[in-house]
Amino acid sequence: MTNPKIYDLIGIGFGPANIALAIALEEDADPELRAVFLEKSPAPQWQENMLLGGSDIQHHPVRDLVSLRNPRSRYSFINYLHENRRLIEHLNLPTPFPLRTEYADYVSWVRNTLTTEVRYGTAVLDIAFDPVADLYTITTTSGEELLAQQISLGPGRSPLIPDQFAELLDTRRRVVHLTDYLPAVRSFDPLADGRIGIVGGSQSAVELALDLRHRLPSVRVDILTRSWSLRAKDHSPFSEEVYTPGFTDYYHGSSKAARRRLDRFTRPTNYSAADLDVLERLYVDLYEDKLSNRIRTRIYGDTEIIAARRANDTVALAIRNTTTGHHEELVFDRIILATGFRDMGGTADNEHHHPLLDGVHRQLRADTDGDLIVDRDYGVRPITGTAPIYLNGLCESTHGIGDSGSFSLLSLRAEVIARSIIDCRDRTRITVTA
Ligand SMILES: Cc1cc2nc3c(=O)[nH]c(=O)nc-3n(C[C@H](O)[C@H](O)[C@H](O)COP(=O)(O)OP(=O)(O)OC[C@H]3O[C@@H](n4cnc5c(N)ncnc54)[C@H](O)[C@@H]3O)c2cc1C
Repeated sequence: MTNPKIYDLIGIGFGPANIALAIALEEDADPELRAVFLEKSPAPQWQENMLLGGSDIQHHPVRDLVSLRNPRSRYSFINYLHENRRLIEHLNLPTPFPLRTEYADYVSWVRNTLTTEVRYGTAVLDIAFDPVADLYTITTTSGEELLAQQISLGPGRSPLIPDQFAELLDTRRRVVHLTDYLPAVRSFDPLADGRIGIVGGSQSAVELALDLRHRLPSVRVDILTRSWSLRAKDHSPFSEEVYTPGFTDYYHGSSKAARRRLDRFTRPTNYSAADLDVLERLYVDLYEDKLSNRIRTRIYGDTEIIAARRANDTVALAIRNTTTGHHEELVFDRIILATGFRDMGGTADNEHHHPLLDGVHRQLRADTDGDLIVDRDYGVRPITGTAPIYLNGLCESTHGIGDSGSFSLLSLRAEVIARSIIDCRDRTRITVTA
């Protein structure tokens, strides 16, 4: 029997985080590295269930998969436009940010241009660690086992499903998280009336309200948010400095308490807030409702959802106004959860580790609160052994908001991880040959 092949690196997930890493390894590091990426979806895609008509991206297009690391790369967004003969027309677009559908196409174009080995339709089930061999075993849902000296874990963050709704997610799609939105809404009857509730006050919540009002003209669409009302993201220049590597260093070098204090400053740049363009569109829509005496949307602000239960074919929400204390029950035909994603770290709404680390986290270095210790190079390391698992896109609680599963610092993060991978590989080879 032949020994199974040992990879220098196995990447889990082939979304933007690991694509950026694959490019960095190809361009700057070591093309000889034995690496494979495992991706559960059958074909390249980026946030395909939220590619809403007219929606644009939320980052500067130059913060793409490569340009901050290597502005001369052929994998830049500008080169994608050039090679697809749309550069000049793109510059004439009357929008400051590219459409999300176009950016998704850019991500797919890069994936299809790279020579990296990617196995699509391969979902990872479990990771195990052998401290004697200093190796990881990765098991896929088909039962295949692969061995790796290093892992880049880039599966994206876990959807945040508030506890009240955990039991209500079912195949009938009465309650869905935004990551399942398009398949769900396509199954709704476009002519039916009814009432849909959107939970959250984020960019996605506003986009969903606009999309539903347009797509289902007979339906009432309400938004329930913990804030007093919807508000704009803070894109002012000093606040945006939190999306720089200097801030990442500062944040990573801070105590846990200081990080939570910094979070209060950084969060309005990205969370529980939306871009001004979509807020203004919704405001005009709601004003038109008033003119036509047909209120189709109400924003339930200062609202806490105390409980949710299935009531025949509907979902009943017990809500409380957090300022007045007023209690009410609202009944919806559908609920869309625009509730975002879980970060790592033991604070409310978060998880101590990504579920794919369930089988291995006890062997990894953690602090006294049970949170994994993540080094500046995004690696978590075993208590016994050296083989790192790089958390590629999961480190907001240790590296700050630039790591909030966004494109902002993706290419620079990839550079840091790629260098560390090569260092670790070289050290392992020297040890093996010595
Ligand atoms: C609707 C929406 C719009 C967004 N728009 C923007 C934006 O405009 N700008 C911005 O900066 N950020 C945006 N984001 C944030 C977004 O998370 C990042 O842009 C980016 O997708 C993060 O890349 P990632 O590779 O970390 O995660 P993902 O894009 O989630 O990719 C993870 C990949 O891992 C795969 N995977 C997961 N589990 C497994 C497994 N067990 N085995 C194998 N493969 C697995 C998934 O199929 C997926 O392909 C948006 C997010 C959403 C939800």
